[in-house]
Amino acid sequence: MENPIAIQILYLQPKLPPSERPTIDSLTRKLTAALKNPKEQGSIVNGTFVPNLYSLGCYKCTCGKAIYASQDFRISDGLITNSVALHYAAYHRCEISKEEIFSIELALENEEEPSYSDLELQ
Ligand SMILES: [Zn+2]
Repeated sequence: MENPIAIQILYLQPKLPPSERPTIDSLTRKLTAALKNPKEQGSIVNGTFVPNLYSLGCYKCTCGKAIYASQDFRISDGLITNSVALHYAAYHRCEISKEEIFSIELALENEEEPSYSDLELQ
């Protein structure tokens, strides 16, 4: 049963520059696995996740180094995130709230090692 109340996480507007090296730990690995095999893909329209809707825009991290197709992902029953989430987890970890990290750790189980291209700053 789909959870109608999904929380949108990792929609950050980082204020600090990205870290020089990516943080690769359980959180990064869980997001890598979840983003490669999301439950659903779609877009957020007026605050609501709409499956199978793809916009032509793109997400750009405020650091300017990561640009991804504008796509949102349901990564668990209760969590929606975006295509820049992995970049945030790897390069802007200090700006992610403890609550968000806890939600992800709790919701996701599978882990996958991110490849260089998964993490590459574009
Ligand atoms: Zn960034």
